[in-house]
Amino acid sequence: METLWTRTARLSVNPDRDLPAKVDVAVIGGGFTGMTAARELVKAGRSVAVLEAGVLGSGASGTNAGFVVPNFAKADPVAVRNRLGNERGDALLKLVGDGANAVFRTIEEDGISCDARQTGWLNPAFGGESASMLEARAGMWHELGRPVRFLSADETRAQTGMDIYSGALLDAEGGTIHPLDYLRGLAITVQKHGGSVHENQCVDKVLPQPGGWQLVMRSGATLSATKVLLCTNAFTTGAASRMGRSTVPLRVYQIATTPADADTVERIAPDGRPVGDTRQNLFTYRLDRDNRLISGGMAAVPFGAFERLGKAVTERLNDELGLKSRAQPEIVWTGTAAMTPDFLPRLHQLGEGWFGGIGCNGRGIAMTAQLGRVLARAAMGEAADQLPIPLRSLRPLPMHAFTPIVASAALVHARLKDKFAA
Ligand SMILES: Cc1cc2nc3c(=O)[nH]c(=O)nc-3n(C[C@H](O)[C@H](O)[C@H](O)COP(=O)(O)OP(=O)(O)OC[C@H]3O[C@@H](n4cnc5c(N)ncnc54)[C@H](O)[C@@H]3O)c2cc1C
Repeated sequence: METLWTRTARLSVNPDRDLPAKVDVAVIGGGFTGMTAARELVKAGRSVAVLEAGVLGSGASGTNAGFVVPNFAKADPVAVRNRLGNERGDALLKLVGDGANAVFRTIEEDGISCDARQTGWLNPAFGGESASMLEARAGMWHELGRPVRFLSADETRAQTGMDIYSGALLDAEGGTIHPLDYLRGLAITVQKHGGSVHENQCVDKVLPQPGGWQLVMRSGATLSATKVLLCTNAFTTGAASRMGRSTVPLRVYQIATTPADADTVERIAPDGRPVGDTRQNLFTYRLDRDNRLISGGMAAVPFGAFERLGKAVTERLNDELGLKSRAQPEIVWTGTAAMTPDFLPRLHQLGEGWFGGIGCNGRGIAMTAQLGRVLARAAMGEAADQLPIPLRSLRPLPMHAFTPIVASAALVHARLKDKFAA
């Protein structure tokens, strides 16, 4: 699928052709989670093969919008502590809160050229109730030592050019990247340290054998590994089936428009900050290096969604941002995010030395940078109770095939709620 990122990528990867016979760790899934885990492992001296069913970036890591946001999609620090208890909750908060720094540090350490800008992330509040909620949330993160603060309505107008907001949460560590170049940069690092990266290798089965596991590919090829990491996100193909069915797949459309002019850029993003507001049918925008506006949306009905969403999201950008020279849709693409009901990431043990990680929701750039590291620590033998993401048993959702219908109904409900709130 063509995306803005495939069109504008500057990095390329030469995937390895021949599978090794045996590795210390086989990583299934070549998105941010798998590639970050592989990067950690090769740097620690382990032999690693990354097995990707499609081409690198065919999952969410190549189709997302590139917002780097170090928090949870909906849950705030209090909800995390209530869910996990104070000690485990604080360990997860610390981990996720440092997620954006982990991304930008990696980019700097590996010299990945991916339009990285750590400008801060703005979360404007639509309505007084949202403003109070965000002010409290900003206070909680601030107490945890993070550079998060609440902006007044005037400050928010100066940052967005929009006068509909009652304030905003500003997280100074957020920012934006070119996600496909970031992913490719990680893969290049893995290869540079002796790991191999394979495309078009769908893992169908993971079978126990003495001393580890045998992975059987759809092509019939096999690979032996002492440890296995399953990093397959919302996918349910082959070995990914059970874990994929434990989250709600959410299909999101992304739209990039024709470039905005310099005056508009100065008015809507004077500090280059990406924006995502608090509406149910949330409004988001960021700029790419050529000042194209990037935003997204969901479709209640999938038929004709590319064209419909391309027009509707661009019109929304034109109207909400008051664009005098009207933007036009330049490219529309789509991807599937894996949502967990409590918006928290999951770590699973599927066998001796076989771990899986999933559930980064819409915060996967920052969160996968941490989830991948935690998976690598698990593969290197760290005790489960020392890991900052608690191990949970894997429970596929009942009636998983029908969850997209529930998501469509929720979208219609959200739109009605926004209309009512307005
Ligand atoms: C449209 C969209 C917009 C988003 N925007 C943002 C954003 O702006 N900011 C943000 O932080 N997050 C965003 N997200 C979420 C974020 O992109 C994801 O959380 C993150 O990319 C997940 O990374 P991953 O490596 O876990 O999964 P993926 O990138 O989905 O990788 C999983 C890989 O596993 C492979 N695979 C599956 N089954 C098998 C198998 N059996 N054998 C071998 N390989 C297999 C797949 O082909 C895939 O490449 C967005 C998501 C979407 C879909």
